[in-house]
Amino acid sequence: MHLARFPRTRLAHLPTPLEPMPRLSAALGGPSLWVKRDDCTGLAGGGNKTRKLEFLLGEAMSQGADTLVTQGAVQSNHVRQTAGAAARFGLDCEIILEARVATNAFDYNESGNVQLDRLMGGKLRQVPAGSDMTAALEAVAQEVRDRGGKPYIIPGGGSNTTGALGYVDCAIELVSQANAMGLVIDRIVTATGSAGTHAGLIAGLALVGADIPVLGIGVRAPKDVQEANVHKLAVATAERFGHGDRVHRDMTVANCDYVGAGYGLVDDAVIEALKLAARTEALLLDPVYTGKGMKGLIDLIHKGQFAGETVVFLHTGGAQGLSGYTSVLDGHLS
Ligand SMILES: *Cc1c(COP(=O)(O)O)cnc(C)c1O
Repeated sequence: MHLARFPRTRLAHLPTPLEPMPRLSAALGGPSLWVKRDDCTGLAGGGNKTRKLEFLLGEAMSQGADTLVTQGAVQSNHVRQTAGAAARFGLDCEIILEARVATNAFDYNESGNVQLDRLMGGKLRQVPAGSDMTAALEAVAQEVRDRGGKPYIIPGGGSNTTGALGYVDCAIELVSQANAMGLVIDRIVTATGSAGTHAGLIAGLALVGADIPVLGIGVRAPKDVQEANVHKLAVATAERFGHGDRVHRDMTVANCDYVGAGYGLVDDAVIEALKLAARTEALLLDPVYTGKGMKGLIDLIHKGQFAGETVVFLHTGGAQGLSGYTSVLDGHLS
């Protein structure tokens, strides 16, 4: 298993810290909770997309691309980090934002990640919810070709086998940190959306034979769809190393009971999770992904799961989107 065979750029501050969360563990009276700080990857605010972009940009640069083309929800952290990666390599960045969350709120549409996308020179355009985003990416790539440019398309969330290599890398990094500390990890918990993070972790853990289960807390799709997406991508990612057979279907487990009213929609339990993490560990979670992941983790602990375990919560970032939710959170933070 030799990750250095794949083209890579250096964008992330690695390794990210692996830290205990004693005050959150005590507050929940539950398992021993640790956090893997992938909110600290360092690129334009950081987050999980930075690890994926190291490999995606490696491929883009090796193909001589001059323009990145990608898509996401309006408050996409992936889009922000892609705009940052483009700036770092002097590339243009064409961005298609899907109005996936039905709101005209000024903060949602202009603050948070959107402000940072613009600040870094991302060229934004919006399409309605439910648009065919794959077709939209191809249409914009064709525009770039027509003007003599060389586009490199990055799918939503950077979730293909190339992006997922970033989480193969994270799996190796986490296991080696735990080994060096003498820490036995019983379980990893992460928010799971476009699937690349979850799939890359599963592939990486399977490739190194670590036998650590990963629980994905879904933020959008129902369980059957999410698990199928993650499993398919995990197999395909391991297959890049010639070892797709090491990834078994039962390694992919997603709990999609915490989506609430829908993608990007905040509920009381999400707000409680944001407050608890912030007030016990100064951990800044986000309303769309890590807040839902923590909502799920808290509820499952209350239901007695993970008793006696050491659980690592993968903090995938997203706090840069918080100001896009100012009006939603207003009056709920005291
Ligand atoms: C994109 C994102 C996720 C989900 O990762 P996927 O690889 O898309 O499943 C989780 N947390 C944050 C903050 C994200 O931006």
